[in-house]
Amino acid sequence: MLTLDYHPTGRHFLQIPGPSPVPDRILRAMSLPTIDHRGPEFAGLGKKVLAGIQQVFQTKHPVVIYPASGTGAWEAALCNVLSPGDAVLMYETGHFAALWIKMAKRLGLEAETIGLPGVEGWRRGVQADMIGERLRQDTQHRIKAVCVVHNETSTGVTSDIQAVRKAIDAAGHPALLLVDSISGLASAEYRHDAWGVDVTISGSQKGLMLPPGISFNALSPRALEASKTARLPKAFWAWDEMVEMNKTGYFPYTPNTNLLYGLAEACDMLLDPAQGGMEAVFARHRRWAEGVRTAVRAWGLEIQCADPSVYSPVLTGVVTPEGVDADKVRQLIWERFDLSLGTGLGKIKGRMFRIGHLGDCNDLTLMAALSGCEMGLKLSGVKLAGSGVQAAMDYFAGHPAQVALLKAA
Ligand SMILES: *Cc1c(COP(=O)(O)O)cnc(C)c1O
Repeated sequence: MLTLDYHPTGRHFLQIPGPSPVPDRILRAMSLPTIDHRGPEFAGLGKKVLAGIQQVFQTKHPVVIYPASGTGAWEAALCNVLSPGDAVLMYETGHFAALWIKMAKRLGLEAETIGLPGVEGWRRGVQADMIGERLRQDTQHRIKAVCVVHNETSTGVTSDIQAVRKAIDAAGHPALLLVDSISGLASAEYRHDAWGVDVTISGSQKGLMLPPGISFNALSPRALEASKTARLPKAFWAWDEMVEMNKTGYFPYTPNTNLLYGLAEACDMLLDPAQGGMEAVFARHRRWAEGVRTAVRAWGLEIQCADPSVYSPVLTGVVTPEGVDADKVRQLIWERFDLSLGTGLGKIKGRMFRIGHLGDCNDLTLMAALSGCEMGLKLSGVKLAGSGVQAAMDYFAGHPAQVALLKAA
């Protein structure tokens, strides 16, 4: 009955953890006419987005922008710094980490998986001491890179990237640190330079509030150095021509101009000092996440992340009671209330669903999403301990947002 011609009234609630809703300001910015990417006007746009995205990553070093999804930027990171047969140590926090490991193997790397065993491993962040211990055993320095996911979007668990850097350094090991912050960037706190990351991979459709279609590699001087001798085949993904041409604000091949208009607008929105800049971005995501978790606790349901010190500010995984198919609950909520929630992925399919609370949200969009969840859970026959909606209302009302404080000042 629901076809592409079906247009329900009101807005659709896109509460999946990416793509996230695109704000009107960005949609309008993207509706400008496409310009000549080799013409005189383009350099200004190119320079603006390249400088803006450096501030978002908190880096002084080059950031490469690809017309590709995040998966492309994963491949770019690996093939620019590694050679065929290189050993890489990859930590499995969840489904996205597992997909990156699969990709490394397909590229001809010797990918060694590390992590806590079984489903429990998908409920906790990266254990930096396990990485340190493994690197200390590698006295020959065969391992060329350590790969971790900053915000594991399949589970709602973040990882302490600084702790991973410290573990590598404490082991006295020269491995590069590659981090997937596709869903962490511009929502969870992230500092590329200060945390000593060599390559950060990110994408447009999560915290940056853009449609899918662009992705990033943020580099370090050591990563750039490694790219000069790395031998995995690359052409489209090669950093050298990109970094060189970007100095003039241009790109070696056609960039997605209209998404770059959107990116320029997104950087203006995120970095705006009147709104509190990146610190305010991180704070509002932490607050939304706590409001959503307050609802889940009131329902009496379990949160997928079992370690409160690494709860994701970006999304929350909600475990359904034994015998309740989380995907059936999701489907009912979508059909009845026009609300999209994230599905369980990989090992935890059917056992949980994900509520995204990133990007262009506010208290009332989250209240609407939680109402949809509560109605859907009840209609699915789940016995709830109490009202998560009431608990979240109390939380949001009792904890004013920073922007409200700014307005009042
Ligand atoms: C979304 C996501 C990806 C995949 O990115 P695509 O844009 O779908 O290729 C990879 N890793 C994480 C952590 C993600 O959230």
